Formats: sequence, C-alpha cells, structure tokens
Amino acid sequence: MQNEQLNRLVPPLLSWFAENARDLPWRKDREPYHVWLSEIMLQQTRVEAVKPYYTRFLAALPDIRALADCPHDRLMKLWEGLGYYSRARNLQKAAQQITELHGGVFPRTYDEIRALAGIGDYTAGAVCSICFDLPEPAVDGNVLRVYTRLLCDDRCTDEPAVRKDIRAVLRKIYADTKKGQRGQLTQALMELGATVCVPNGAPHCDCCPLAESCQAHLTDTVGKYPVRKQKKARRTEDYTVYILQCGDRIAVRKRPKTGLLAGLWELPHLNGKRDAQAALDGAAEWHTGMAELLSVRSCVHIFTHIEWHMTAVHLLVTKMPDCFTWVTPGQLASETALPTAFRICLPEE
Ligand code: SF4
Repeated sequence: MQNEQLNRLVPPLLSWFAENARDLPWRKDREPYHVWLSEIMLQQTRVEAVKPYYTRFLAALPDIRALADCPHDRLMKLWEGLGYYSRARNLQKAAQQITELHGGVFPRTYDEIRALAGIGDYTAGAVCSICFDLPEPAVDGNVLRVYTRLLCDDRCTDEPAVRKDIRAVLRKIYADTKKGQRGQLTQALMELGATVCVPNGAPHCDCCPLAESCQAHLTDTVGKYPVRKQKKARRTEDYTVYILQCGDRIAVRKRPKTGLLAGLWELPHLNGKRDAQAALDGAAEWHTGMAELLSVRSCVHIFTHIEWHMTAVHLLVTKMPDCFTWVTPGQLASETALPTAFRICLPEE
C-alpha cells in the first residue's frame, strides 16, 4: 500500500476516534506533564490499573517541580504496585533535567524531549504529536499490530530496523495530516489497537473503520500478523520469604541499590523453598527469637523474565534486631513501598 493509500485511511480513522474515544483521565487536556506521565504509566500496564495511580500521583505531585523535589521513598510509595520501578526513577530524573536545563518548562522539540531520562522514540512521539501537534508518530505494539495487518507486512516487528522503517513511513503520513489533527491521529491509532485490533484474541474487524482497506482482513490472514520473535521462557527462582512479626510490627529491609526492585523495601528472605523446620532453622541466624509459627503458604509472582516461587512463612518473634526496620501496619499502608512480589506474601487480613 502506497503512502497515498495510507493517507486515505486517516479521515475515517479520525472520524471513528471522534465517536469512540474512551473517556480517560489523561485525555482531559494536552498538558505535557499529564500526557508524559500517563504514557510512562501505561507502558506494560493496563489502562484500568493505571487510572487510580494516575489520579493519585497528580494529586500528590501536581507539577514537574513537585516531581523533581519528591523524596525517593514517597515517590516509590506512589508507584507501589505498578511495577517496573525504574520508570518512576526516570520520571523524576527527567523532571530534574527539565527543571535544570529548561527552567521547569517542558521542552517542545523532538530531540530535546527524546534526550530526557526514560523517554524513548515512542514516548517522545506521543508527547510531540499529542501536546505540540508535531508530525512525530508514536509507534508501540498497538500501532505495529495495526500497521502490519493493514499492509500484510511480514517483517519481524522485534527488529529495530523494521520499527525504524515503519516509523519513517508513518512520519510521512503525519506530515501530510492536517495541522491540529496529529495528536488525534496518534490517539486514534493507539485506541484502534487497544480496543478493536486487539492483541489477544481475534480483532473486531466487523467494527473497524479500516476494514475495507485492510489487507490482512481481506485475505483472511489476520492471525499471521504481527510477526514476532519467539519469546524466551521465563526462569524460575525459589525463595523462602519471612513475615517476622513482633507485636504489631513487621520486619522489612531495603533492597540493594541496583538490580531488580532496586532500592525498594522487601521482606527478609532466603534462597530456595524450605519446609517449616528448614525455614525455622534458616531464620535462626537473624536472632529474632521464635515464639510461634503462624502459617506457611505458597505465593507466585511473575516478572517479565523471571517467576518467583515463594514459600511465605509467618512467624511471631520475640526480639526486634537492628538488622531490620520494624514497621507498623499503618506505616506499611502509607509510607513503606513494598513491591507486590512481597506484599502478596503478607497474611490476609
Ligand atoms: S480490519 Fe481487523 S485486522 Fe484490519 S486493522 Fe481493522 S481490526 Fe485490525
């Protein structure tokens, strides 16, 4: 399909979007801080899960300067449960760059935006087109899926060169799109990929505004696209995780500054899955004293590349040694950023 044919798909796509756009909190304005924050939160995370986080985050940190100055633990607490915590760290780093290099005003060119921490081609394209109406596409999995289906493009979309090429083609389409409509085009493509040309299961071609021109639909080959590399199997790691409880306090400690869940709080744990006796023997080295074994149960948490298979051991102990920080339920709820992987090990209330 030539550029001209792709250009012809823009008006029906925009009309469809005007009628079908979901009412999302980050679509209420084009403020770059809002759009940027939502795009970062939406990476690897479902829209419904992001909504409450987005609202809470903006209520706590209403502007870029507040984000730049936010204490680390508070920032992590606001992000707790969203996962991929480096996104939050990079957000803050970028807010500090904006404060230092741009006087606190969000930059307006692709190159300046792309140079900020944690902002790749996709996010830069989204902010440029949605906030500043620049002819920069935002090419993510949704857009690649729609594009490759429209054109029966069987190149592997995991190849950087292929993504670059698709971006270049779309950039021409954006340049030919009327000023004032480029942000709508970005959002329409995202919306079509998220709600009609869906990633899991059959796409809803019967209500797609592009169905009459879609090569995959017309040739009944939708399932072939997009072509992806085979994913590597996740590796499994086993842990025994301890809920050491003394009175109403629970032991936590900080994780190392680098690696998975860097700098967040964690529950004490040891490598390997242990039965009750082995778990008690293992915990003896912390000198917490043992009063009672309350429960042992299994929990699983899945990261992108790793699965943690955990035995969660709830122990009543008699001492609170300094090797841990002992927090109350109130602190755990409002201050201590405990990642979901550990939070699921806590006893149910
Ligand atoms: S017609 Fe079907 S496969 Fe083609 S873009 Fe629309 S939803 Fe996707």
